[in-house]
Amino acid sequence: MKKETICVQSGYKGGNGEARVLPIYQSTTYSYDSSEELAKLFDLTKEGHMYSRISNPTVECVEKKVAELESGVGAMMTSSGQSASLISVINITSSGENFICFSNLYGGTTNLFAVTLKKLGIEARFITYDMSDEEIEELIDEKTRLFFGETIANPSLEILDIERYAALAHRHGIPLIVDNTFATPFLCRPFEHGADIVVHSTSKYMDGHAEVVGGMIVDSGTFDWSGYPCLNEPDESYHGVIYTRNFGKAAYITKARTQLMRDLGSTPSPFSAFLLNNGLETLHLRMERHSSNALAVAKHLKEHEKVLWVSYPGLEDDSQHALAMKYLDNGMSSGVVSFGTVNGKEGATRFMDSLKLARICVHVADLRTCVLHPASTTHRQLSDEQLEKAGVKPEFIRFSTGIENIEDIIADIDQALERV
Ligand SMILES: *Cc1c(COP(=O)(O)O)cnc(C)c1O
Repeated sequence: MKKETICVQSGYKGGNGEARVLPIYQSTTYSYDSSEELAKLFDLTKEGHMYSRISNPTVECVEKKVAELESGVGAMMTSSGQSASLISVINITSSGENFICFSNLYGGTTNLFAVTLKKLGIEARFITYDMSDEEIEELIDEKTRLFFGETIANPSLEILDIERYAALAHRHGIPLIVDNTFATPFLCRPFEHGADIVVHSTSKYMDGHAEVVGGMIVDSGTFDWSGYPCLNEPDESYHGVIYTRNFGKAAYITKARTQLMRDLGSTPSPFSAFLLNNGLETLHLRMERHSSNALAVAKHLKEHEKVLWVSYPGLEDDSQHALAMKYLDNGMSSGVVSFGTVNGKEGATRFMDSLKLARICVHVADLRTCVLHPASTTHRQLSDEQLEKAGVKPEFIRFSTGIENIEDIIADIDQALERV
């Protein structure tokens, strides 16, 4: 099936006389005729649901849909994007080991990696896009376990050269994990370019309605885990299961569920999975509209005398345009546009406060146009000089273009810019 059809049809298939729409299995547990059957589930020798902390039929249907959209062998939904990132890393790293990641990651991921994982003894080594392969390789040693980057970085909108970093990671026998939140599998499928694991915050475009926080981990099934004892040696918590031997291509994602979801319990509710599925059913339509509206907004801003600069990968003269054309379908670059107004921080705040249709939100990437001014919110404590160093200019506005009529969005921008 083509990806638009997968969005609509995949995952749940109702049989004769059954519900046409994905049912919500609001049940913690599942009943069985014999203890022996349940024992097989515990031994992982038979597939089935036993307890909703580990798996649930509603959640499973959505996992199947996302796995299919990404062309992976399996997926696991989590209660948030943060827990997807956490599990994706600690599934194959332990105390005393390290990994490579980019310094332009989402702020929440940066905190998780730089502060919380550090307390667990796992070291994140940060790199930037301007570093050469040789410079990066100096940071890789025998304890380096993975590479981690974002397809379209939030909020810098830099695009990951997936093929380059996948090749670099593979030369050192380690996988590339890609956070594909902003692109979604509709605009980019990182596995086609050599990535090994994909994670998502489904709270953004995949849900798309700003209704439910969630995350997803998808396994390509193509990485060779022979250098990873955690996947090749017996797991004592499962009477000696060896993930690569017992589960083949699905070793990584099976371990994530049966070991880490079991132990950490970052479980999504069946109702959240149902809402996510509703969002996914229109993902293809929304991403097209988000992208065309954002491109129109970016072009309009570029011509405006009150606007200093605009950054949007879909613009032909943008520094990221070549990578956008390579990795994003038809260069469609999702809905987020960054720009700066004249008059610095004050100009930006005035612009934001004057908007009528667009609302000020911490969220991005849903169907209602919203804006955020990092310098007066998420980076509020910093001085102008510190903001420059952090790459957050005082006039920087993150504009998340919704799917309303483009003329209304632009009219709102214009009346607000007049007040700058
Ligand atoms: C929001 C976001 C996250 C975190 O996801 P939550 O669902 O908020 O936990 C991770 N990565 C990116 C790129 C995000 O935008």
